[in-house]
Amino acid sequence: IDSVLSERLAAGLRDIPDYPSPGILFKDITPLLADPELFAASVDALAAAHRAGTGAEVDVVAGVEARGFIFGAAVALSLGVGFVPIRKKGKLPHTTVSAEYTLEYGTAIIEVHEDAVHPGQRVLLLDDVLATGGTAEAAAGLLEGIGAHVVSVSFLVELAFLNGRERLSGRDVKAVLSY
Ligand code: AMP
Repeated sequence: IDSVLSERLAAGLRDIPDYPSPGILFKDITPLLADPELFAASVDALAAAHRAGTGAEVDVVAGVEARGFIFGAAVALSLGVGFVPIRKKGKLPHTTVSAEYTLEYGTAIIEVHEDAVHPGQRVLLLDDVLATGGTAEAAAGLLEGIGAHVVSVSFLVELAFLNGRERLSGRDVKAVLSY
């Protein structure tokens, strides 16, 4: 994306030091979400980042609770495809498959409905921030475990110094903003 747009988007992020634990610089996206022009621009940039990648058509967008839902749902509508929610343990009502993984701060279990995708469906996985890559790696593994082909993984923000993208090798990884 061009530098004017990236500066506008970056200005919509707020750095919160030591949240949720000491040493973490948390990228707060809520100012960006509250601004309709910036929110729209971020969704456009995520959709454009995907198109500029492999250019592969996708059948569905998947996002991880909770902030992956906000961008994932909006990008799915923008691309004209459906949305698959990946949730924290215990939240999905039907039969699920789950994965445990380590985070920048702690561990977590995420789940997806076992019938959330048809075998061979091409998925764009989205989240707000790529940190260590544990969440996205687990989410991609879950989707692949139920037969999906994860063609792209896109983020609004990549914390490049954490090398999270190394855990997503084999997929087309894109970030709108990188730090
Ligand atoms: P990770 O699994 O380490 O890549 O962490 C990614 C997940 O945790 C994403 O869902 C992010 O929303 C959240 N996250 C991790 N680190 C940060 C951070 N520094 N700022 C904002 N969100 C973060």
